[in-house]
Amino acid sequence: MKFVYDFAEGNKDLKDLLGGKGANLAEMTNLGLPVPAGFTITTEACKEYLSSGAHVDGLDEEISAHLETLEEAMGRKLGDPADPLLVSVRSGAKFSMPGMMETVLNVGLNDESVSGLSRQAGGNDRFAWDSYRRLIQMFGKTVCDVPGSAFEDALHEAKSTKGAKDDIDLDAEDLKALVGVYKDLFAKHTGHEFPQDPREQMDLAIAAVFRSWNADRAVLYRRQERIPGDLGTAVSVVSMVFGNLGPDSGTGVAFTRDPSTGATGVYGDYLQNAQGEDVVAGIRNTVPLQDLERIDKQSYDELLGIMATLEGHYHDLCDIEFTIERGKLWMLQTRVGKRTAAAAFTIAAQLVDEEVIDLDEAMHRVTGSQLAQLMFPRFDMSGDPEVLTKGVGASPGAAVGEVVFTAEHAVQAAAEGKNVILVRRETNPDDLPGMIAAQGILTSRGGKTSHAAVVARGMGKTCVCGADELRVSSDSFTVGGHTVNEGDTISIDGTTGRVYLGEVPVQPSEVVRYFEGDLDPALVNEPLVAAVHRIMTHADERRRLLVRTNADTGRDAARARRFGAQGVGLCRTEHMFLGDRRELVERLILANTDDERNEALNALRPLQKADFLELFREMNGLPVTVRLIDPPLHEFLPSLEDLAVKVAVAKERGEQVGRSEKMLNAVRRMHESNPMLGMRGVRLGLVIPGLFAMQVRAIAEAAVALAGEGGRPRPEIMVPLVGAVQELETVRTEAEKIITEVVGDSGVEVLIGTMIEVPRAALTAGQIAEAADFFSFGTNDLTQMGWGFSRDDVEGAFFWRYLELGIFGISPFESIDREGVGRLVRIASDEGRATRPDLKLGVCGEHGGDPESVHFFHEVGLDYVSCSPFRVPIARLEAGRAAVESAGSDHR
Ligand code: ADP
Ligand code: MG
Ligand code: MG
Repeated sequence: MKFVYDFAEGNKDLKDLLGGKGANLAEMTNLGLPVPAGFTITTEACKEYLSSGAHVDGLDEEISAHLETLEEAMGRKLGDPADPLLVSVRSGAKFSMPGMMETVLNVGLNDESVSGLSRQAGGNDRFAWDSYRRLIQMFGKTVCDVPGSAFEDALHEAKSTKGAKDDIDLDAEDLKALVGVYKDLFAKHTGHEFPQDPREQMDLAIAAVFRSWNADRAVLYRRQERIPGDLGTAVSVVSMVFGNLGPDSGTGVAFTRDPSTGATGVYGDYLQNAQGEDVVAGIRNTVPLQDLERIDKQSYDELLGIMATLEGHYHDLCDIEFTIERGKLWMLQTRVGKRTAAAAFTIAAQLVDEEVIDLDEAMHRVTGSQLAQLMFPRFDMSGDPEVLTKGVGASPGAAVGEVVFTAEHAVQAAAEGKNVILVRRETNPDDLPGMIAAQGILTSRGGKTSHAAVVARGMGKTCVCGADELRVSSDSFTVGGHTVNEGDTISIDGTTGRVYLGEVPVQPSEVVRYFEGDLDPALVNEPLVAAVHRIMTHADERRRLLVRTNADTGRDAARARRFGAQGVGLCRTEHMFLGDRRELVERLILANTDDERNEALNALRPLQKADFLELFREMNGLPVTVRLIDPPLHEFLPSLEDLAVKVAVAKERGEQVGRSEKMLNAVRRMHESNPMLGMRGVRLGLVIPGLFAMQVRAIAEAAVALAGEGGRPRPEIMVPLVGAVQELETVRTEAEKIITEVVGDSGVEVLIGTMIEVPRAALTAGQIAEAADFFSFGTNDLTQMGWGFSRDDVEGAFFWRYLELGIFGISPFESIDREGVGRLVRIASDEGRATRPDLKLGVCGEHGGDPESVHFFHEVGLDYVSCSPFRVPIARLEAGRAAVESAGSDHR
């Protein structure tokens, strides 16, 4: 196997092998851009090194051969005392992992070649010693685990002894002395001298980069970002160019467009007389890239030309690193740059305008999660609020509230109508009630897979975690000189991870206003809204999947329709049993005779009819799936504990307990140990006479009423929790009778179908399809029963641990588990359609609005997904992307 590639041998498509950095350095070399010569050692070599216990057969010889070629090309030998070639040894994985792995610059310097370097630079001793001290510092820290602070302290001391403000105020003598101090530090911490042999330096640095792949922080980062752990990193060896040779030299970073808004024009920072990391490390104040025009017009013009070349070549925003050595420009890195969600949409649309890419490609470059980010309310930053600190944005949103430090206080304060932010070092399952009560959650420990993050995302609650500058005590926290006490107000941004002092005003998202119809995209001079409009229109043209909504009220249905919903995929009728209807429902549940029960049912029917009519009106002409009542009935009764206490207390006082006691007995009778697996769904319909019949009649009557108004109702009755075709047949026979009776010759057509949410239903779908006009996958229950998880119990209790261990990369309630639960969906779809080719297939679990899952449902061949109103645009976009991706538009 070939382990080493010269830059001229690689290209941008070899990221797997050469890492992003190595592949793009090769690409730029082949484009004829000024890249210092070098070579890249592959990820395969890294994997081999890590698995074999540090030996890779033949690697050493290959490196020697490539080093020799490099030396010939440069006309210098690595570390040659008289005229040294120096190199950098750089890490670079397939996916960028910022700050996770290391790079060592100036490899090849030692006590002798430092003079050679000075001579090369026309007797610039200061530069040579500065480069040497940087090598010892980086090498010590990266390769030999010497604490970086040891060197920083020494540098600081050298500056203060001298009364110097910046590192550039130290002269050659100071730096020479500092090298002595550094070498002592190195020896003290490692037990051996700083290696003087240039090749040994290089080999040790390469091995250290290999090992850094498995450093704790890199492992943690990969888990959080869901980057596979077995990719390994490549290592690029690049001949050094020097930005620290004086004022005619410098180093900078730049973007070809603004990565936060997508606006055109160049953006970047430049620092004179500096090397490598100095720009981002903030050791001195940088100047805006535009100033380079004044400092070195020739290099500036060349740089702009190169940036245009790169954009044209990559067809996208690029970010770059460059260095100017005595007026000569060198390109050190490029990649397709990261950007905010807003910039992603704006840039994609701009590139279509510039005829660089087509609309399919533009749609491919934005994601549903980016669109979701744009739909959250945002903080209005115009008041320039004070940033207290920054953590990990773990669950997006903008939350404002008074700080509380315990779950109990959160619950109390919320009960008083206050908005609170629960602040904890970390959360555990006992904090759950407090997390539910709070507007947002802030923790000082843990990342995106911590308990707080996982639970908050599951609840759709704003969360910032891992804000490690916070010192959290029992009734206050401190950060950067501020003390924030219980009751003080803070604002947290779950997208950026920023924490603000005080109340930051929240503004609605303009993208939501556009979806709501508040903003006419043709009239709005707002590039973001225009871009969203354009890409969404294209997604609608491309997608095969229809998108419906889950809605129980006319209001939700109307909003969802504005968001683009093409029907209701799930109306949960139990929501119509709450509020002032509770009393009727109690009468129904407690009925002792048929008469009592019928009386309650007859009273409920017109109320339900009115609900359905409202929904059908809002969705006039579009299908509306109404699910017959699903949850166990005791959910509508008071809790057993509360009642038992109430009755006991009343008895003690000698008060009348008649009705309460009757209720208590009923609640006792109906108590279940596993309500999720108990008396619910179709089972209720088969056991409680007249219950389903009442709902079916109300649905049919509402439909007939709308038809009477000249409307076009398209009701679909859905039976929940079916596991056997016999259950569905029984319900269907009764329902058909009622429907025929009510509908008469009104022309109304009512479909009858079932949810597929019990594994047995999925496995016998071929039979069930005999009695069903449609299937709707209830993927929440299917996930619960497929995995044997009860969601309420498991998410807060141990999911964080499962994520940490990598048992799953993402909660199966968030994104469908393709191999297991997804397989059940596939089986049921295939076998259902084998029985009945025109069987309509949809999904109404929360997965219907999850980007990843939408792609899966497209692949399986469902007809529609249904999701909450706010997820409708996300599903539309992802359905469009899925259609284009599976059509294999490989013209990219
Ligand atoms: P990171 O992945 O952290 O950006 P890099 O490998 O890009 O690490 O290197 C760190 C810094 O050193 C960057 O600013 C880079 O431009 C600079 N650098 C790397 N190699 C060289 C080189 N051969 N000559 C000059 N500067 C270099
Ligand atoms: Mg870099
Ligand atoms: Mg269900």
